[in-house]
Amino acid sequence: MLYQSTRNNEEKVSASEAVLRGISRDGGLYVPEEIPVLDVPFETLKGMSYQEIAYEVMKLFLSDYTEEELKECIDKAYDDKFDTKEIAPLVKAGDNYYLELFHGPTIAFKDMALSILPYLMTTAAKKQHIKNDIVILTATSGDTGKAALAGFADVKGTKIIVFYPKDGVSEVQKLQMVTQKGENTSVVAIHGNFDNAQTGVKQLLADKELEVKMNEAGYQFSSANSINIGRLVPQIVYYVYTYAKLLQKKEIAEGEKINVVVPTGNFGNILAAYLAKKIGTPIGRLICASNENKVLYDFFGTGVYDKNREFILTSSPSMDILISSNLERLVYLASRRDDKATKRWMEELKEEGRYTLPDSVREEFADFTAGYATEEQVAGMIKELYEDTGYVIDTHTAVAAFAAEQYKKDSGDTSKTVIASTASPYKFMKSVMTAINPEYENSEDLELANDLSKVSKTKIPEAVREIMSASIRHTRECKVDEMKDCVEKILGI
Ligand SMILES: *Cc1c(COP(=O)(O)O)cnc(C)c1O
Repeated sequence: MLYQSTRNNEEKVSASEAVLRGISRDGGLYVPEEIPVLDVPFETLKGMSYQEIAYEVMKLFLSDYTEEELKECIDKAYDDKFDTKEIAPLVKAGDNYYLELFHGPTIAFKDMALSILPYLMTTAAKKQHIKNDIVILTATSGDTGKAALAGFADVKGTKIIVFYPKDGVSEVQKLQMVTQKGENTSVVAIHGNFDNAQTGVKQLLADKELEVKMNEAGYQFSSANSINIGRLVPQIVYYVYTYAKLLQKKEIAEGEKINVVVPTGNFGNILAAYLAKKIGTPIGRLICASNENKVLYDFFGTGVYDKNREFILTSSPSMDILISSNLERLVYLASRRDDKATKRWMEELKEEGRYTLPDSVREEFADFTAGYATEEQVAGMIKELYEDTGYVIDTHTAVAAFAAEQYKKDSGDTSKTVIASTASPYKFMKSVMTAINPEYENSEDLELANDLSKVSKTKIPEAVREIMSASIRHTRECKVDEMKDCVEKILGI
């Protein structure tokens, strides 16, 4: 199976090439030429482990990886780095099921894909006979940086350099990054904001002179960005796994449709749910939940994507985003792979900050419903769920839980509902604890771990214990215009 670019149907590459490149040369995203279908029935899948289901799903999409290669990647990724054997456990609280995607090393759902991407990438490099070491460059506003560092730490044949805005990440996020172990990891605080970091990284990735210099020294760049299919495909797995588990636990009948609610930022996670449906998982509605940065809510309501609005800082920072990159894939598929139209819309987005879809394309979004939650509604949701059930969720998950309730009220749809739980409450302790009890308002994040543990009756995750005692290993800083020098110094070129 080949992948084609959303901006040029003729630009085709194999799965391993797509993983190595990340993004197509024309700026488009890679989409499989045809969406495959599961070739194992749920009757069989329901008895399988996470790793076994991962193989059944990923083999459909990464067809030029051999069975041995793929199984090795899966086994190395989904091992005891996760603090539960199920990898992604399903917890029932109230009427809904919470798919906990935060049991990996950095306690956010980015681990689900970033723990396997390094292996998919090094395997791809071998398949493509690449001799250079791969240098992963990443700009982060918090979660992706740490998950990528943890994923690539001490992976042979790779180095990783993460740039974060010096004053633009939370204390927990910063500590998680600067204490990162691994001989091949580098973390740099830049004197600028996330946009500066992101723009700087993009410039470095496109720097031809640097490319030559790197190549002479035996290096080449790649990216761990969420538009890489090596991140998208592993995310399809847990939706298939969830359905299989619901069947196994007899919570649903065979073929019974479930609804899935996803707290959305870059549109990667919910696109994975959509693909899970397309390959044959009985999913009814896909509910796209936004925080106050509700570009997507407006988009699904009107067909107009308009990022010209105020950027709002919320208590769910990983969803504070106005350009949802992965939406390009949905728009492309919904337009029946109209590459020219997709290219035009994306150019309009770049130049004017908005584009409008024709009704014929919007009709293809029938599977999706959108919702959003304000800051007050998020806090209210955390408190209400805790008081009703004792279950504590993080701010991102609360956005989805609120949208789920709203949807049920509005539609009367009584289908079983699975909510993607994308971060541990321990990652956003202050917001979570303050929602439950306003007395915590003046506390420091890390002081709250013990209280959260008592309130939620859960153990403090290793990731939080670690940063309480770990020593700081990364103190490098640089100005925005020194990023290139900084990379050259780190690589010794
Ligand atoms: C990245 C992230 C999201 C958003 O996921 P997308 O795939 O970008 O839509 C939601 N919640 C958390 C905690 C995240 O880290």
